[in-house]
Amino acid sequence: MVLFATDDQGRLVDTSTAYVMTEVEKAELEQKLVDTGVVRPNVVGTRMGLLKSSAVVPRHRGQGIGLRMVIERLARLQRLGCAAAVVLAWDSGGRHSSLGVLEAAGFQRVAELPEYWREPEGAETFDCVKCEGPCECTAIVIRRSLYDFTPEETVAELSHTR
Ligand SMILES: [Zn+2]
Repeated sequence: MVLFATDDQGRLVDTSTAYVMTEVEKAELEQKLVDTGVVRPNVVGTRMGLLKSSAVVPRHRGQGIGLRMVIERLARLQRLGCAAAVVLAWDSGGRHSSLGVLEAAGFQRVAELPEYWREPEGAETFDCVKCEGPCECTAIVIRRSLYDFTPEETVAELSHTR
C-alpha cells in the first residue's frame, strides 16, 4: 500500500509505503536474524507487515505527521490480518529520526544486521550517501506486535506524553 498525506490545500506532505511480507522475504529475514544470534525470531509462520519508506516533505517535519503515518499503516496491516509489523531501519550514523518515531509507536529492537544492503560481488550497487561505495550500513530490525495495538489508544497515549 502507498499512502499519501496532503495539507489543507491538497499539496503532498508525506508518502508512506507498507505491505504484507511474502514467504520468501520472511524466510530470508528469519535466516539473517538466526545468523546474528536471535533465538526463534518468529518471522516465518507469522503474518507479518513491513513498513517501508516514509518521507515527510521538509517544511512539514516536526509536526507528528510521520508518527501518524506509522499508526495509519499499522492499523491497515492489522486489518489485513497481520500479527506483527517489522521495519528494517537504516542506521545512518546520524540522527535516528525514523527510529525515534517508530519507538514512540511501540516498536522494539530485535537485532542489528550489519551490511544488510550490501550487494553480492559483481552485482550492481546503489549509491549509499553514507558509504560512498558498496553499502556497509547496518539495518536495525525493529518489531511491534499488532495483537495489542489499537490505533485510537496509541494516539491517546502519545498525546498524553507530549
Ligand atoms: Zn551504506
